[in-house]
Order: sequence, then C-alpha cells, then structure tokens
Amino acid sequence: MNISPIGLNNNIKTVKFPVFKAFWKGSQSNISQKFQYGLEALDNQSIFVVTSNEESSNMMLELYSEKIPIPVMKKITLLVKKGELDNCDELAANFAIFKFKNDYYIISLADYSLKKLLVDRPKENFNKDNIIPQGEIRRLSEGVIIHTGEMVYPSSGGKHKFVFSIPSKSNSLNALSYLDVKNIDRFDEFNKRTISSLNSSVKKNNESDRGITFEDIGGLDDVIETLKKYVVRPINYPQVYENIRLNKGILLYGPPRCGKTLLGKALASEANAVYREYNANEFVSPEVGSSENNIREVFKQAVADAPSITFIDELDSVAKTRDGSANARFDDPLVNQLLGCMSDLEKCAAPAFIIAATNMKKLIDPALLATGRFGLHIEVPLPNLEGIKQIFKIHSKKQNISKDVSIDAIVRNMHENRFTGSDVAEAITDAFFNVLDRLGLNKKMDNKTFGYSDMAKIVITKADFIKAIQRIVKQK
Ligand code: ATP
Repeated sequence: MNISPIGLNNNIKTVKFPVFKAFWKGSQSNISQKFQYGLEALDNQSIFVVTSNEESSNMMLELYSEKIPIPVMKKITLLVKKGELDNCDELAANFAIFKFKNDYYIISLADYSLKKLLVDRPKENFNKDNIIPQGEIRRLSEGVIIHTGEMVYPSSGGKHKFVFSIPSKSNSLNALSYLDVKNIDRFDEFNKRTISSLNSSVKKNNESDRGITFEDIGGLDDVIETLKKYVVRPINYPQVYENIRLNKGILLYGPPRCGKTLLGKALASEANAVYREYNANEFVSPEVGSSENNIREVFKQAVADAPSITFIDELDSVAKTRDGSANARFDDPLVNQLLGCMSDLEKCAAPAFIIAATNMKKLIDPALLATGRFGLHIEVPLPNLEGIKQIFKIHSKKQNISKDVSIDAIVRNMHENRFTGSDVAEAITDAFFNVLDRLGLNKKMDNKTFGYSDMAKIVITKADFIKAIQRIVKQK
C-alpha cells in the first residue's frame, strides 16, 4: 500500500480557515472529476475538504488545525451527496487534502469509528492498516484510492471514486475555471490577528484595531484596480502566477494625506497578508553598517512573514539623489543595500511585496525606480470632485447629518479648496465638534448633566460644515 504515515512538524505557524470557499460550477462534472479539479486547484495555502457534512468537517478541522503545517488561507469544499459515490455512499466522506513542500497529505476528519465500520460493513474486506484514525495525517502517493474519511483502501470496479493522482501544474488553470471561488466569509478575527501581530518596532498603527479594506478608500478606484492586479490576485491565486516575474517593489507617489498608507493597510487585509509599516528614517543609524543591517532585517522579516506587505513611508528620505537631480547615487551604502535587497527579493519566490511611498518622487534615486526594483509607479493624486464625494460618504456614514444639508455643495466647496482625503475626514470630525459647541453639550458633559436625550440632538448642519471647512482652509 503506497500511503505512509508522516511526522509533520507541529510547531509551524498555522492559521485558521476559512477565508474562501469554492462553489462548483454546473452539474456537468461527476464526483471523480470534481475531486481531480479540487486537487489541481490546491496550492500551499489552501485545503481541499471532501465532506458530506460541512459543519462537522469544519469542527474537525478547527480541532486539528494545529496539526496542519501550512497557513490555510483558502478552503475548497467538495460536498458529497448521498448516492454520488460508488460502494461507500452511506458512509460519511470526511477528509481533507493539503499540499506541503510538493507532497500531498490527507487528514482524516472522520466522525465514524473503526469499530462501527466493521460492524456496519461486515462483508467488506478492510485492511485495518489502511484505515486512518480521526485527526491523523498520511502522505498520499499516486494511485491511492480514497473512499471515505476513515478508510483508505484499494477497491475494484466502480466509476465514481476518489483516486489520488498527482495533479499536473498545467491543469491548475483549467481546474480554477471549474471553481467559482468566492470570498463569502470575511474572517475578521483572522485579519485582526494579522494586524495585531505587528511588533513594537513597527510604527504605531492607529487604525490597527480594525481591518481596513478597499471599501474604506474613496476616489482611488483605478489605483485599487492596479493594486489588485499586481498584488492581491497574485497572493490569493499563486498557482496562476507561478511562472511570472512579479513586481514586488511598488512606489506610491503623490501629495501628502491622500491615502497612500491607507492603501498599504487595505492591501494587506485584502490579501490576508501580514502588514508591517516603517518610516524610512527609522533605518538610518549613526553606527557604521547599522543602517544597512536594518534594511536587511526588514527584508528578511518580509520574506519570513510572506505573504506580506511591507510599507515603507518617505522613501525619499533615504534614497535621495544628492542634489535633487536625476543623478544616480550608487556610492551611497543605503541605496546600494536597498538595491541589493530588492534584487534578492525579486529572485525569491516568496510573495513578499514592498510598497514604498513618497511625496517627492523626483528626489528618489533613479536606480531604485528601475524595473525589478521599485519598478511599478502608481500615482495617488489629490481627489477629484467625485473622489471627494466618495471619501465624504465613507467618513460620514455613521454621522447624523441634517436633511437640508446639500452634500453636493459641501463637496464642491471642499474640491474648490483642494481638500486632501485627510482634510475631508477632518472636516467631518470638526463639524461634529461644532455641533457640540453650538448646543452647549460640552458644558453638559463637564457638569455631568449630559443625558441620552442629548445624543439625539447631535445633528450636523450646513453651518457646522462651513465653519469646519473654513478652519481647515485657513490652516492650509
Ligand atoms: P503621507 O504622504 O502624509 O504619509 P498618506 O498619503 O499616506 O499621507 P494616509 O495616511 O493614507 O495618507 O491618509 C491619512 C488619513 O486621511 C487616512 O487615515 C484617512 O482617514 C484619510 N484619507 C486619506 N485619503 C483617503 C481616501 N482616499 N479615502 C478615505 N480616506 C482617506
């Protein structure tokens, strides 16, 4: 029998599932074909569950998740209905397959005991050695026939059965076309965990207590589409991009406070990647060699965390051309280190993306902006009228705004005054404070006479917005 027990390392970081779930398109494929498509769609961050009872398989997976040595980002489920399998159709099919270091493994999620199996099916010629107890993992090799979660045994005859055959790389695209993978269950806990795993060396992330997604960003639809294309999809569907050189260095440039950092954070949650944020100034150390070492550490961490998004703000502060001209600065050890790290990163397969941001693209050493380094340049401009409208909507969705306020007029006013995304957010906050002032609610809070009925009075009027806009314009 070509199925062998394994001793997997239990200490490898495991992430709980599921973020994705696959639905099977159409009913044209029989169960054996679907099984093959599921295998072909597997990558080293996904698990393929074959079950007749999804709830129970989820519980079992949760129970044994620590044993599964890969970060499970996607779950592909093949639901087996009664009568779909030959021979064993009254048994609960309940197992999962995952790929680890080029090998395929099966974990039994069975809730059916061996004893009961022998009693219920006395005529079957079971080989006990081939029965996988619940929660145990075995390596699969070519030709193994899997009938149910608790049994792996050779069988003769029958059209519809699960025969394990090593998936061919070239078929994975084809397999994906049979799978309609939808993001149905945002696993918020997972995102929170990812973001809260930032260590103390990482710049404080004010918004880290919630996962920022692309929906929190207004007016940057084209930028978001570009980032989905170059980062999110390649992380979420690695098998599609296996033979492609990815752009792992991306430069976001544009005026301050228009959403560059926000994009970095959203990218990480959209791709379920680890997010780390640095200001390039943090790399600089007066000790000889220390700055270069800091850069090496950041890149090392990015690869170790992969899939990961490393956001480096103010890249211009360390990678400036000497005189602000287009002269390359090859003699600078910091620039050289960055160049070296970027070319190493490009060669390695880890989905580790470095997103650098700057308000002064012109100041950056051109050697760093070449293809293969920070070779993809994306402008994050000042929002246009429609963009301001979207940002306004995002930031005001939880505010009580008086019905007679013309949002269009407010938004136009902001646009005429060249508001940034941050200005729009600030104007809404300020308008809210203006309401508290206007209604004397600050005093009430101070002398503890503020009551629930006062909450209902907090309605932002046109005058509150105008006052807020004027203050920001004056400060600009
Ligand atoms: P800097 O160049 O100064 O680092 P930045 O471009 O990285 O700025 P962010 O830090 O992303 O700007 O934006 C600051 C804040 O402004 C955000 O936290 C958010 O509240 C708001 N904001 C800016 N742009 C947008 C946007 N396009 N959509 C929604 N909110 C935005």
